[in-house]
Amino acid sequence: MARYTGATCKLCRREGMKLFLKGDRCYTDKCAFVKRSYAPGQHGASRKKVSEYGMQLREKQKAKRIYGVLETQFRNTYERAEKIKGVTGENLLRLLEMRLDNVVFRLGFASSRVEARQLVNHGHFLVNGKKVDIASYKVSVNDVISVREKSRASEKFKTFVENPKALPQWLTANLENFEGKVVAEPSREDIDVPVNETLIVELYSK
Ligand code: SF4
Repeated sequence: MARYTGATCKLCRREGMKLFLKGDRCYTDKCAFVKRSYAPGQHGASRKKVSEYGMQLREKQKAKRIYGVLETQFRNTYERAEKIKGVTGENLLRLLEMRLDNVVFRLGFASSRVEARQLVNHGHFLVNGKKVDIASYKVSVNDVISVREKSRASEKFKTFVENPKALPQWLTANLENFEGKVVAEPSREDIDVPVNETLIVELYSK
């Protein structure tokens, strides 16, 4: 599966905000955005004017970067969202939110979505007792996501379990058993990403 391999912190600087792509480092003064909160490149510090199209494009890029999805996969997800009953922008965010790598991150089994994706790809997780190593796998209501038995002894997972994080309403966790459950589909209010999905819909509707 293709993934972005460039400089991660540049993505935050380009979007003009912290996207928290590097886990714990993002909360320290080593964060590149704290040091240089302007866009990368020679004219990064002086770029000001943004057109309507530019705003729509930036919003799409921001969503892609937060969830770690490349253009084709993002476009495919949008097309799926269009076919689902309801508001397309909200459907899009819901589909992104219900990716297995995002759920692993939300459950607190990884410090960032990038790390979650890597852990899923390496086969550390089961969905309803069966190994799933596809980061984009879409979970469903009542699915149980658990850390594979063999991986539970690792210091990494022990640390995550000993330091539980606040869960969104649509997930529950039983950390003693290294598992979490999807109890509902996330509503828009549950999805705390700083993205204006309406601008993405406007961009793709042109
Ligand atoms: Fe973004 Fe985190 Fe890098 Fe800061 S440390 S620029 S929040 S990825």
